[in-house]
Amino acid sequence: MSRVVIKVGSHVLTEDGMIAKRRMLALVEMISLLKAEGYEVILVSSGAVAAGYTKLPLERNNVANRQALAAIGQPLLLKMYQEQFEIFEVFCSQVLLSADVFDSEKPIAHAKVAIDTLLANGVVPIINENDTVSIDELVFGDNDRLSAHVAHYFDAALLVILSDIDAFYDKDPNRYDDAQRRMVVNQLSEAELQAEHTPNNEFATGGIVTKLQAADFLMKQNREMYLASGFDLSDVKSFLIDKVHNGGTLFTTTR
Ligand code: ADP
Repeated sequence: MSRVVIKVGSHVLTEDGMIAKRRMLALVEMISLLKAEGYEVILVSSGAVAAGYTKLPLERNNVANRQALAAIGQPLLLKMYQEQFEIFEVFCSQVLLSADVFDSEKPIAHAKVAIDTLLANGVVPIINENDTVSIDELVFGDNDRLSAHVAHYFDAALLVILSDIDAFYDKDPNRYDDAQRRMVVNQLSEAELQAEHTPNNEFATGGIVTKLQAADFLMKQNREMYLASGFDLSDVKSFLIDKVHNGGTLFTTTR
C-alpha cells in the first residue's frame, strides 16, 4: 500500500476570502479516487483562518485575531470536508499538530499510532497546524514544512504539494516570461534554499522557498516530493493514477 501526503495551500482553497468549494470538491473527489486505487492518503489542509473570516471579519494582520479566526474556522472547514467526503462515502478526521510534536520521539510515535489506525480503517486524516495554541518560534508558519515533517515521520514515500503554481521553474514564472519548467530536480543549491524576497532575486517569494526547503528535507530522507497545480488536478492525477509525468516537478534523488 502506497502512503501519500497531499498538502493544499490557502491560495487554492480560498477565493475572494471564501472557501473555494468547487475546488475543494475536486480535491476530495481525487482523494476518494486515490483511495479506490489503493493509496493511503493523508491531507494537510490550510484554510481555517479564511473559513473563520467568512463568519467574523477580524483584522487578519494581528496574531491574536488570526488565532481566534483559526479557532472559529477550523470546525467550519472540517464540516465542509466532511460533507464533501460523504458524497464519496469516505470518512475523514481532524488531526491538529503543533510544530513541537516533531521535536521528540514520544509524541511522534504517539501521533503515528493514531494516523496508522485511521488509515488502516480507511479514514482520511486531515492535518493542520494548531494555530490557536502555537507559540511563535515553534510555528512552522506555512504548511509546506509541516507537511514535509508529516510525510517523513508518518512514513509516506511521497509528499504532493498542490499550489497556485503548476511546477518549479528556473525563475519566477510570474515575473519572467522565459522561465523554464524543471521536470525533475535531484539537488537544490544553498542559494535556492536561502533565497530571500528581494526584487533582484530570481528565486524570490517565501512561497516557493518553503516548498524547496520541504523538498530538500525529504530528498535527504530518501523521500520524494511532487509539486503541481491545485487549480487543475489533471497533472497530479496523471502522475499518481496513470504513472505518467506530464506536468509538475518531481524532487527526487533516485530517478
Ligand atoms: P501556495 O500558497 O499555493 O502554497 P505560494 O503562492 O506561496 O504557493 O508560492 C508559489 C508562488 O511562488 C508562485 O505563484 C510563484 O509566483 C512564486 N515563485 C517564485 N519563484 C518561483 C519559481 N522558481 N518557480 C515557481 N514558482 C515561483
